[in-house]
Amino acid sequence: MNDESKTRQQLISEVEALRLEVSELKASKDRLERTEEALRESQHFLQLVMDNIPQAIFWKDKNSVYLGCNRNFAIDAGIDDPSQIVGLTDHELAWREEEADFFRECDRRVMKSDRAEFHIIEPQLQAEGKQAWLDTNKVPLHDSRGNVVGILGTYEDITERKLMEELLAGERMILEMVATGQPLQQTLDALARMIEQVGADCSSAILICDKQRARLLCASAPSLPEEYIKGIDGLKIEPCTDFCSSAAYWNKTISADEFPTGHPWADHSKIAHECGLAACCAVPIRGPKGEVLGAFGLFATRPSPSSKRHLLLVETAAHIAGIAIERKRSEEAIRESEEKFRMLFETSRDSIYMRNRQGRFFEVNRATTELFGYTRQEMLEKINVNDLYVNSEDQVRFAREIETKGSVRDYVLRLRKKDGTEMDCLLTATLRRSKDGSIEGYQGIIRDVTDYKMAQDALQQSEARYRAIVEDQTELICRFHSDGTITFANEAYCRYFQKTREELIDKSFMPFIPAEDQPGVESLFSSLCTDNPVATHEHRVIAPSGEVRWQQWTNRIVMDEDGKFLEFQAVGRDVTERKLMEEALRDSAEKTKLFAYSVAHDLKSPAIGIYGLSNLLRKNYGDALDDKGKNYCEQILRASEHVAALVEKINVFIKTKETPLSIEEINIERILSIVKEEFSVQLSLRKVDWVLPGALPTIRADRLSLIRIFRNLVDNALKYAGEPLSEIRIGYEEAKAFHVLSVMDDGIGMPQCDFERLFGFFQRHETVGGIEGTGLGLAIVKEIVEQHGGKVWIESIPKQGTTFYLSISKNL
Ligand code: ATP
Ligand code: MG
Repeated sequence: MNDESKTRQQLISEVEALRLEVSELKASKDRLERTEEALRESQHFLQLVMDNIPQAIFWKDKNSVYLGCNRNFAIDAGIDDPSQIVGLTDHELAWREEEADFFRECDRRVMKSDRAEFHIIEPQLQAEGKQAWLDTNKVPLHDSRGNVVGILGTYEDITERKLMEELLAGERMILEMVATGQPLQQTLDALARMIEQVGADCSSAILICDKQRARLLCASAPSLPEEYIKGIDGLKIEPCTDFCSSAAYWNKTISADEFPTGHPWADHSKIAHECGLAACCAVPIRGPKGEVLGAFGLFATRPSPSSKRHLLLVETAAHIAGIAIERKRSEEAIRESEEKFRMLFETSRDSIYMRNRQGRFFEVNRATTELFGYTRQEMLEKINVNDLYVNSEDQVRFAREIETKGSVRDYVLRLRKKDGTEMDCLLTATLRRSKDGSIEGYQGIIRDVTDYKMAQDALQQSEARYRAIVEDQTELICRFHSDGTITFANEAYCRYFQKTREELIDKSFMPFIPAEDQPGVESLFSSLCTDNPVATHEHRVIAPSGEVRWQQWTNRIVMDEDGKFLEFQAVGRDVTERKLMEEALRDSAEKTKLFAYSVAHDLKSPAIGIYGLSNLLRKNYGDALDDKGKNYCEQILRASEHVAALVEKINVFIKTKETPLSIEEINIERILSIVKEEFSVQLSLRKVDWVLPGALPTIRADRLSLIRIFRNLVDNALKYAGEPLSEIRIGYEEAKAFHVLSVMDDGIGMPQCDFERLFGFFQRHETVGGIEGTGLGLAIVKEIVEQHGGKVWIESIPKQGTTFYLSISKNL
């Protein structure tokens, strides 16, 4: 081989070697590229894994500068892409300054100690403002020589778990308060505060329905503004006024991220806005049967999406509040019912007791201690029921009966008090059983009926007596209703109407009364009342023979203990005979009156005639008569004068009686001046003073009658007062219903006698001596005064004088 061919050969082999080398290089480049590709893929895969696990992952260098993180971490930290984390520190991320310091402090500790730390529980304010709780693990990173070069951290957001734990702890605490019977107010306050603490940045309100379930009353709102509380306290439970009342009205959760501003929420939302409240979630508080007891409201200060977390909080709170309120209500209901029964027990007038089978009391009321005279302590600690039985066999008999029948009613017993007094008692009792059904003892009510029994005996006796009296009466006795239906009739009544009692009872007596008398009888019954309970009246009845007879009845209303009308009772008799006699008497009186009138009238002219003629006789023929004849003539004259005066007086009396009064306003002073004028001659001759009172009134009376009164009284004073008479004094006094007038003289007066008699016809005092008079003057005065609704009376003292008083009704 030549050199050229050798060189060529060499070159070929060199090229070959180079080609080989190139291909090897290419192969190794391919391998490298494949490896790089595999690495990139693995990195991408790693990032994918990291981004898709629930935990957040980050790693930092020795200076706590971030070198990388996964997507979850980037979101919490507030950056768009995990790659942007490289080169940043905690101070440049979302969390608070103090949280950043805390994280870095932990990093330093782990790196310095070269020891991993697990489950570091720490708070973290995340992007979007969410306050989270983290469970963090931090592991130191080493280089190939084992030096610490950084830190790898992973954490899990345990906020929800933490919230649940806090909520559970809070719930336990509140339920403990409920269970231990803490006051409702304290429990609700604690609940509201607990929810505010767990919820963070929120205020709560607990509202309870009023008794009528018409309004919501604020029970607790520890941190709500005063103004807002005022706005919701006492609101009507109705839809669309505020969240809580709407929730209570619809019995469902009402929530909104913002307070609505349209009608009808506007007013309420305005207050909420002014108070800095932005969102609300209200849940009805329900009782065990789902009935609404109130509402729980949770208010946020900034508009927030109504989160599941808040809803859970409010629902839990409303549930606990429901338990607390219901517990309180049932406690109150139990207490009220206990109080009611205790009150009944204690205030019962009957003795109530509970005792065991052996006879020991374990509960007695006040009436029991009062009934037996033992103290409560004695009853409970010393006394056995055997001590109270008068007959010990009663105890055995009673126990047998109650244990066979389960209860006894009005069991008659004789019991003994502490002082030995025996009592008739009625016992009503039932068995007390223990939970296993065995007989534990008895409970019962004892009533002392000793007085009742005595009263009943007395009543029976009195009824028997009464019946004897009523039945033996000759008077007719009956009882009846307003319409005349007879409820009772005695023997005499039955005899009178010739009917049996059965025929009379439950039937009206009205048919016995003639139709024309019935209205009078009915109106008499209706006039009877408590103020006017008795009235007597007479009416006709048709006797069984068909004869019409007269009866007189005294009717009385009968009332029950409360003063309520029950029926009428009447006692009556047949008065037909008396009626006939009265009629006959009336007839004869009328006839006598007529006779007297005609006599008085007819005597008047002859009397005046005799008087005139005897006067003429004395005047014209007096001289022709001897002394005896003159004396006779004188006597005839005086007698005829007297007859004339008497006739005149009788006529005055008749006139007084018959003429109706003509009542008018009368000035008494004028009347008195007329009378004074009539007697003026006598008054001045005898030097008698005429004295009038200071003021005299005008009264209503009959003018002529008054003149007649004063004329008679003044005439009497002048006639009978005698020598000592120096004044006639007129008096006046005003009484409530009367004018009282008086005529007083200071004459000789009258010795004591029956002055009333002097007002009768032809009555004169025995001391009148020769003073002439008919004895009719005062009878006329009396008649007139009575016609004026008044009375007349005399006061007279010998040697001092006489006063006549007369009253005249003001009601004329
Ligand atoms: P009449 O008035 O009819 O002419 P009378 O004066 O006797 O007769 P009354 O006026 O009725 O009858 O008086 C009855 C009696 O009362 C008088 O008779 C007199 O005894 C007595 N009497 C009346 N007024 C007085 C008086 N002022 N003082 C004393 N006795 C009086
Ligand atoms: Mg007289």
